[in-house]
Amino acid sequence: MPRQRSYFVVMSFYVIPMLVYCLIKRFLSKTSTIGMTLDLTPYRENYTLLPPGTSTVMYIVLIPFVMIFLYGLYFRLRIYGLDALLTLSKNFRSWFKQSFRYSILQKRIFKEVSPRIMHSTTSYGILILFIGTLLVFIDSDFLEPFNQKLLQGAFYLIFEFILDLFGLLLIFGITLQLIRRYSGVKRLKPKLEYYVYLWGLLFIGVSGFILESIRISVNQPPWSSYSFIGSMISVTIINSGIPVYILKNLYLILWWTHAIIAFGLVAALPYTNLRHVIVSFIYTGLTYSAPRLPQLAKTPFKLSEVDLSATEESKVGFRSIGDLDWLQKMGLDACTDCGRCEVVCPAYSSGTPLSPRNLVQKLMKIMWRQRLSWKRDLIESKDLGYDEIYACTTCGGCVEQCPVVISPLEYIIEARRAFIIDGRMEKKAIETLNNLSRGENPYGLPRIERERLVKELRELGAKTIDEHPNPEYIYWVGCLATYDPRIRNIARKMIEILSKAGVDFAILGTLERCTGEPARRMGEEGLFQELALKNIETLKSINARKMIVHCPHCYQVFKNEYKELGLEIEVIHHSILLRDLMSKGRIKPKINIENLVTFHDSCYIARFNNVIDEPRELLAGLRFKEMEKRGKDTFCCGAGGGNYWSEVKRAKRESLQRIEEAMKINAEVIIVECPYCLAMFEDAVRVMGLEEKIKILDISEIF
Ligand code: SF4
Ligand code: SF4
Repeated sequence: MPRQRSYFVVMSFYVIPMLVYCLIKRFLSKTSTIGMTLDLTPYRENYTLLPPGTSTVMYIVLIPFVMIFLYGLYFRLRIYGLDALLTLSKNFRSWFKQSFRYSILQKRIFKEVSPRIMHSTTSYGILILFIGTLLVFIDSDFLEPFNQKLLQGAFYLIFEFILDLFGLLLIFGITLQLIRRYSGVKRLKPKLEYYVYLWGLLFIGVSGFILESIRISVNQPPWSSYSFIGSMISVTIINSGIPVYILKNLYLILWWTHAIIAFGLVAALPYTNLRHVIVSFIYTGLTYSAPRLPQLAKTPFKLSEVDLSATEESKVGFRSIGDLDWLQKMGLDACTDCGRCEVVCPAYSSGTPLSPRNLVQKLMKIMWRQRLSWKRDLIESKDLGYDEIYACTTCGGCVEQCPVVISPLEYIIEARRAFIIDGRMEKKAIETLNNLSRGENPYGLPRIERERLVKELRELGAKTIDEHPNPEYIYWVGCLATYDPRIRNIARKMIEILSKAGVDFAILGTLERCTGEPARRMGEEGLFQELALKNIETLKSINARKMIVHCPHCYQVFKNEYKELGLEIEVIHHSILLRDLMSKGRIKPKINIENLVTFHDSCYIARFNNVIDEPRELLAGLRFKEMEKRGKDTFCCGAGGGNYWSEVKRAKRESLQRIEEAMKINAEVIIVECPYCLAMFEDAVRVMGLEEKIKILDISEIF
């Protein structure tokens, strides 16, 4: 739409109705009798101490500010606004529930004490003062001309009290924010716009109280004590003996400065990061249908339904802003730039070029720089770098932390799909994908290796599905336990435990192949689905109903991702099964560990699937201490997202950082629940020369 037309829309929606309204109001105010009947009742004095006609002048001054605001809002809303409003109106209940939880109750911000106080006092302060200003506007400019009054009597007294209270809270919150920013909290970026807004809001809060106190000093209404802050300051003003005419002039200057600064801040809102105040309120409510943990991203197609004869290619991945859907575009605008995602990001703390905050902010800026012609190929232009996009371990930390429910991970997965289509991969990643495609395992090792493992496990008491059809459980061994000699011990242990506890199970033996999880995380959706469909066919053919897995990555795909491709199966992580067997007295821990033990939660088990207490119950009775990052706030070992199978340079590996964290609490044994974590930490301990000091064990190895 040409720019002139946008101006026309803004003019017709605001300016013309506003001018008509001012004329009517001016006419009506001449006939108003307000004030005559309200002498004894407390009431709000509007435009007091100001020259007549101030309200009309104010509305004229307001015009350019409103036009600037509406233009910014209109331009931004053109991209996603209509879809957002339609979705919102169709699913109002779901929207309200979600928005109330994240925007009003600020569920995620409330996890930390100091941001909780700071953010709640500021946001609730602004909200209440905004509502208060609206009520004053209705009272003075809509009702008074009709000889009506809203702000009077007991309601008015409560109104004054609440406004003073929240004004005070606002000043307190803003002061805390300024202190935090000036004291250099790392995750808060020192952007000029944030300082302008904070100082501006502080001025509005303080000048609001001064205006109120001057009003009270001059008019001295008998109900002034309800405006408890204003009346306290007014005592000082009255005692100072400043002449009334000076107070009136001061009031006039301050009133206009207060108004102009408030108008300016509102007008600039859509053009600054502070727009999140509006966008995130709507956005958080709409994310109920977006892929969020345990889902990583949308499934772009279903291989089983792809029409190979179709001439039009279906769109996979994201290489330009135009490839994002409206909700993903809106997500970019909702970002508050708070940096919570960056703080928890293992890829960022490892010194890779990835910061989920910077990624979202960068995409948001590109979206607006390009206006509506999003032709630029972000991969070709290197706006999205390989090392940035492939550094992500898909740990989900950013998704879990984001206060406005954005998923930086979703943009990353979509971008990876585009990289794959271009074939822009590093050597090791290409090798892994070839191995998966040719040998159906990421190592590229021959089938004979699997046969060797089957032989070994059968010697320990396992039966293959051919030998024992229709068992209660299938024990899924997984690629790491099949091909890595150290990890194989988990499979051995599990077979021993299951046999001893009398669990009715069988293994798939040579029928097992990789779940395809590394391919999906790397963005190779086609290869993932190819492997997944073969596995689903195998599992359906043997009528598998329940499955035991010790690998969180297998657990995640079987539990949450195969479903969409047609497999419904009950999946049990070995930590849960072991806990159940132990609580029934069918197994007992064998190892009596004297040393200090800690537990490392796997991202895909704890954060994605909320399994946190079960493995800890197995450790009861041991000398145990928690690390700082635990449960849903765990720290990734660095292997996820295909990083175990590919190479992105890191200044300091995630696994080394985690071992350092364990050392801080003097842990001597780290118990894990994932074969990848086991491999990563054992390697880190070797690199750090700590083999004698720290032992890494899988949870099954304590039995
Ligand atoms: S998923 Fe994890 S590694 Fe990836 S961007 Fe988010 S926090 Fe960083
Ligand atoms: S993506 Fe979320 S957590 Fe990250 S900076 Fe934006 S609002 Fe904050």
